[in-house]
Amino acid sequence: MTVVDKTVKGPTVLIQEDLCKGCGLCIDICPPGVLRQDSKLNHLGFHPAIYTGQWCNACGLCFYACPEPGAIVVIKPSREER
Ligand code: SF4
Ligand code: SF4
Repeated sequence: MTVVDKTVKGPTVLIQEDLCKGCGLCIDICPPGVLRQDSKLNHLGFHPAIYTGQWCNACGLCFYACPEPGAIVVIKPSREER
């Protein structure tokens, strides 16, 4: 899902760690390489993908690559916030 949010200053990605099965597809496809695998296990027993915290450009490729519904939300700032 890609949403427009007037409260965020820049593009960002939210990963629901407890819905992630650690397949790594989002990590492999992310052009700027801003996702990585967490060293910790989630409650499903997988190492979830996490955002490193900067340089997401909200391209949405991670969302389209992810097989787990709801695991990734990409947030774009509204036009006036860019
Ligand atoms: S939206 Fe694009 S840049 Fe941002 S984390 Fe996903 S693949 Fe990477
Ligand atoms: S593609 Fe989805 S399930 Fe796979 S590591 Fe990324 S967030 Fe987790």
